Amino acid sequence: MTDRRYSWGRYPDIPQTAHACSWRSEVPELISAVATEHHSTLAFGNGRSYGDSCLAITDQVIQLRTLNRFIEVDWEHGIVTAEAGVTLAEILALSIPKGWFLSVTPGTQFVTLGGAIANDVHGKNHHLRGTFGNHVHSFGLLRHGQPPLNCSPCENPQLFAATIGGLGLTGVITWAKIQLIPINSSQIDSTIVRFENLAEFFRLSAELDHLHEYSVAWIDCLAKGTKTGRGVFTVGDHAPYGSLSVEKRKKLHVPVTPPFSLINNLSLHAFNETYWRVHPATPSRRRVSYEPFFYPLDGILEWNRIYGRKGFQQYQCVIPDAVAEVAMNELLAVIAAFGQGSFLAVLKRCGSVASPGLLSFPLPGTSLALDFPQNADLTALFQRMDAIVHQAGGRLYPAKDAHMNGNDFRQAYPAWEQLEALRDPSLLSRFWKRVTS
Ligand SMILES: Cc1cc2nc3c(=O)[nH]c(=O)nc-3n(C[C@H](O)[C@H](O)[C@H](O)COP(=O)(O)OP(=O)(O)OC[C@H]3O[C@@H](n4cnc5c(N)ncnc54)[C@H](O)[C@@H]3O)c2cc1C
Repeated sequence: MTDRRYSWGRYPDIPQTAHACSWRSEVPELISAVATEHHSTLAFGNGRSYGDSCLAITDQVIQLRTLNRFIEVDWEHGIVTAEAGVTLAEILALSIPKGWFLSVTPGTQFVTLGGAIANDVHGKNHHLRGTFGNHVHSFGLLRHGQPPLNCSPCENPQLFAATIGGLGLTGVITWAKIQLIPINSSQIDSTIVRFENLAEFFRLSAELDHLHEYSVAWIDCLAKGTKTGRGVFTVGDHAPYGSLSVEKRKKLHVPVTPPFSLINNLSLHAFNETYWRVHPATPSRRRVSYEPFFYPLDGILEWNRIYGRKGFQQYQCVIPDAVAEVAMNELLAVIAAFGQGSFLAVLKRCGSVASPGLLSFPLPGTSLALDFPQNADLTALFQRMDAIVHQAGGRLYPAKDAHMNGNDFRQAYPAWEQLEALRDPSLLSRFWKRVTS
């Protein structure tokens, strides 16, 4: 059965022919058939990666989303074993009523277990719990022409480490066993306060991060001068009591892709100014449901369409602590000088919990993520931003990337050669080809 799949940013806009399977037992034959006919392939989860890391060099992918069964659940210890195509939303639907939550979650619940491991995703609690890979007990891996392997810190440890953050290149993950965290309520006690500039963000982060499970900030990347980096800081914790209920709110839907981006500087200026002003100048506490707290964008299905037919790129970098404030100031100044803005602009301090993954993105420092409508000016802007990140010893996030140059990648991720040595030769992405050759 074949179908079409795209990456989330629709840039590059290259449709993937998806070869689906219904059962884990069919995966070896499917990899073999697609790799033999097209020379190579790549696992595809739910297409929530923005750039080209989820696009096969042959544009022929193995669609894993259809492997979506739970295999074993242990509610006494909060351990779930499920097929790789199960989404985080499906895990939460089962685990929340039992009093368990994902140890780490990215900003969308529509990613698969396999995709979350392959990009070693991080969330608002990186400063405490590290990445998704820190909470994986084991998984099943299929490599072309080999019997199925069990991977864990004790069994096939090299492949375990290389597959976490391994961008789908070491084999196809067919199932995984993960650890959840206990909760008493599905609500979050959150505190919100707006800040006037970047220095204040760093002050708030140093003061509050270690006191809360979750911490993140939105910034107004169009603000200039003394207001550079102003924004809204949010911290949160699972509420100590309340209901354990799964969100059932109806979602909106962007029905079509307009010919041009609905995000432009006029709409951005108005949005950013209003968004900043509606938030309180003194800390305000509220109890909110988990969905709007963790997944505000999931409320609008296919929101990526608002960027029009040319799509968009997300730029996400992380800068080491020692130079983070200086480099972030420089990045924001460059963005403002280019007159480019992003309505999504997220700042987050990452912690020092080491990931078991070889090529994991976060490092102790500060991460900045911005969405830009695809247009010609991005090349020059990204070159300037890349130079700042490079100079600061930072790096870009492959899960979001569609432009990084090979030299920067290889310098920022020196373990890439170890991953290449363990790569299944029948698996190759457009991203890997671009940055390693
Ligand atoms: C709104 C939004 C918010 C986001 N927020 C965050 C965030 O806060 N933090 C963060 O880290 N990321 C974030 N992301 C990125 C997203 O979490 C990752 O790109 C994630 O890996 C996507 O998972 P997927 O299942 O859609 O996989 P895909 O995007 O389809 O694939 C991702 C990679 O995983 C590989 N892969 C998929 N399934 C398998 C498998 N079974 N076996 C082997 N390899 C496999 C693919 O080959 C590819 O390399 C966000 C994305 C969106 C759209």
